[in-house]
Amino acid sequence: MSSNPSKRFSGQRVLITGASQGIGEATALYFAQEGARVALNGRKEDKLRIVQEKLPKVSAGEHVIAPGDISKEDAVEAIFAKSIQEMGGVDILICNAGYQIPSPSEDIKLSDFEGVMAVNVTGVMLSCRAALRHWLKEGIKGRIVVNSSVHQLIPKPHYLGYSASKGAVDNIVRTLALEYASRGIRVNAVAPGAIVTPINESWVNDPKQYEAVASHIPMKRPGESSDIAAAMGFLASDESAYVTGQTLYVDGGLTLYGDFEHNWSS
Ligand code: NAD
Repeated sequence: MSSNPSKRFSGQRVLITGASQGIGEATALYFAQEGARVALNGRKEDKLRIVQEKLPKVSAGEHVIAPGDISKEDAVEAIFAKSIQEMGGVDILICNAGYQIPSPSEDIKLSDFEGVMAVNVTGVMLSCRAALRHWLKEGIKGRIVVNSSVHQLIPKPHYLGYSASKGAVDNIVRTLALEYASRGIRVNAVAPGAIVTPINESWVNDPKQYEAVASHIPMKRPGESSDIAAAMGFLASDESAYVTGQTLYVDGGLTLYGDFEHNWSS
């Protein structure tokens, strides 16, 4: 694995789920810029190829395309088999893929609820399980970073499946962190606030709604995908070598109860 040793992740192999756009794409760019070889997962191969083309080359070899639906057991096996075969292994897993479907909770469709849980919870479990099996077999001290959400803490009416799924992610992270800490494997999460990505196109492209979103954030702006990628990088790096089972909120202060900025309660 020869590569430029001056870069932070030189020689490291990173698998990122949901890397075809948004935060996953920005995270792939971040790791490739820092010298890592990256395996890109998503459901559509053509979209992943476009991202692959954009990434800076690294001397360790080509970045890898590993398409597949992470909610399916067979697909996750195939995603890991391809990534491990082509890169010689995986050192860092970024569980990023996730989605949400809005509905008043009294009308929520079972298939929508189960679909969100299948990707946001089962998909994270299957990906972590595959990584852990690989690391235990090969003696790799791997690192997992899961992309959660401020909604693992803040309730999100009309998004019951999403809130439930991110609450579950918090306990997946803490449970796996405890179970594997003694074997040198670290598991952490980043919890983004409101980030400018395609998932949020309803307000990102509407100046009035964008302002409304910004006004609720103590730092008065939404975040960028690169803000989240940098936090992922920290939790995957040796700078956080003594951190496990934690969620790093990257939210411009959204979880600080902004309504209490000026005293109104006493
Ligand atoms: P996005 O919709 O732009 O990207 C999601 C990615 O996941 C896409 O590449 C999509 O193809 C992929 N994906 C979805 N289902 C998949 C599946 N079954 N198998 C494989 N890939 C699949 O979303 P984003 O805003 O970049 O969000 C990424 C993550 O960040 C999600 O987990 C989301 O919950 C979380 N998050 C986003 C925000 C935000 O404001 N954008 C806030 C908090 C948390």
